[in-house]
Amino acid sequence: MKHKKISLVLVMAFLLIFQVKAIDPKTVKPVKNIILMVSDGTSLSNLSLARWLQYYQDPSKPKLFLDPYLCGTVRTNCSDGPIGDSAPTTSCYVTGHASRAGYVSSYPPDQGEANIDPIDGTKAYGPMATLLEAAKQVYGKSTGFVVTCEFPHATPADVSAHYYNRGAYNFISEQQVHNQLDVVIGGGNNYLSRDQEAYLKEHGYTVLRNDLAGMRSCKNNKMWALYNTASMDYEIDRDPAKEPELAEGVKLALEKLSKNSKGFFLLVEGSKVDWATHANDPATVGPEVLAFDRAVGAAIDFAKKDGNTVVIALADHCTGGMSIGKYGLSNYSKRTKAELFQPILNFKMSIDALGKRLNAEPYEKLREVFKECEGVDLTDEEVELIVNSKGYKSSPIPVELRKGQEDKPLYSPSFSGLLAKILNNHCCLGWASGGHTGDDVFLACYHPKGQIPVGMNTNVEIAHYMQALFGMYGKMDAFSDRIFTHHDVAFKGYDFKVIEPEEKNGFYKLVVNNPSNGKTMTIQAHSNIAQMSGSDNRKLELPSVMPYVDRTKKFYVPSDIAKYLK
Ligand SMILES: [Zn+2]
Repeated sequence: MKHKKISLVLVMAFLLIFQVKAIDPKTVKPVKNIILMVSDGTSLSNLSLARWLQYYQDPSKPKLFLDPYLCGTVRTNCSDGPIGDSAPTTSCYVTGHASRAGYVSSYPPDQGEANIDPIDGTKAYGPMATLLEAAKQVYGKSTGFVVTCEFPHATPADVSAHYYNRGAYNFISEQQVHNQLDVVIGGGNNYLSRDQEAYLKEHGYTVLRNDLAGMRSCKNNKMWALYNTASMDYEIDRDPAKEPELAEGVKLALEKLSKNSKGFFLLVEGSKVDWATHANDPATVGPEVLAFDRAVGAAIDFAKKDGNTVVIALADHCTGGMSIGKYGLSNYSKRTKAELFQPILNFKMSIDALGKRLNAEPYEKLREVFKECEGVDLTDEEVELIVNSKGYKSSPIPVELRKGQEDKPLYSPSFSGLLAKILNNHCCLGWASGGHTGDDVFLACYHPKGQIPVGMNTNVEIAHYMQALFGMYGKMDAFSDRIFTHHDVAFKGYDFKVIEPEEKNGFYKLVVNNPSNGKTMTIQAHSNIAQMSGSDNRKLELPSVMPYVDRTKKFYVPSDIAKYLK
């Protein structure tokens, strides 16, 4: 009888756990801080691989830092298709609306039958306010991001800029600089112009370029620290004397952001899991995921001590369709962990680094270098493919005499693609794609009072949960309309003119005149600056940036901006 009672209790508990509905944002109590952590292009099988590699190397570590906090999955998609792209997917998490491939926190056009959620076509291409912008402008919280890609890349752009083309780095970086985030750590020295650097310095920032020691000793809570010309190196290739690992960047950012008694919003991105999975690079995926996971560990340590911080770790979409096991892997269920994972641990560098190294060494050292770098004894067929690859600079065969080898299973038209196929030929991993895939992604969450989303959540539900954590649920669209009003509406009754830039990809300007008092305002697109002239010469620095979108021919400005012309 006692056993029956116990089993009934267990069944009830089971039902309670598994019938629980998605969290209702109306019941979520606000917290002070949010740390949003995106592992770009990362599938559950990528987590599994990282976990196995860690455990195989150190049996005292069977679990990832994020494992105890795994609580569900997320369906993540574009506005008009199930397979997500980085720009619209993290945009959705931070704005509440899915969007189209390439769109950085910008509203999608109405695609009719293809729409996944309802779309208001009148808003197409316009900016959508982000939770980072709300945190800063509505609550006075500090903001920042720590990433490993170049800083204007899609995910960091999603929290801090708006444009329908993720490749428009000049517009995106201008908005990121003028959005005045407190802490930026990432790659991309080439994308911060001298003017932008000067603007940051004038506004009290310390700007550090390839200066790890400087970053570690920086006492300023307003800091940009950039590494490399574009993205930071893959974890497997990273020189610890030159670049910080993601977890260190997170710890430094948290020290600075937590000085603000009003709280903060921090985005962290393990940016290059996606790059490794796009490349089908078996050497690089595990170390990238483990670096992200150590950053999650650092964030959760902080949150537990702080008691008023939520950590949300998830992916934006999956990439590559990696599997542990593949076609042709016989006796798969009898393969030991050593057989499955030691070959992967023998790989000592990314395919990118391997390609550079092979091209820098003479052909005579090809086999030796391959063995040294990746622990692989090349087969004769693999050597044949390498010397005939057009991208192999040290080949003894002149380029015009190299033979296509399309009939061979390892053939790839690119040198890096060929190297990926060769490495995968020597390990157990399979791949379904070189692009993104439409599977649901993992969700891990820590909340000091346990108010976490569980089960399968849509990307919009995750956005609503985070909005609720900052008291913004149901208020984001109104906030967005307030800071991003069409210029012809905001300046109704004034004389205004949109001035085209002289050079291609230059910045548009908006000049507005009040004929009754002669006051004039000039706004440079994507900045937060309104320069007054006439009887008033102030340089106004507004709380939000003012994007210009060529498709709508509109500037997006604060709804009350005309008050400065009165
Ligand atoms: Zn992505």
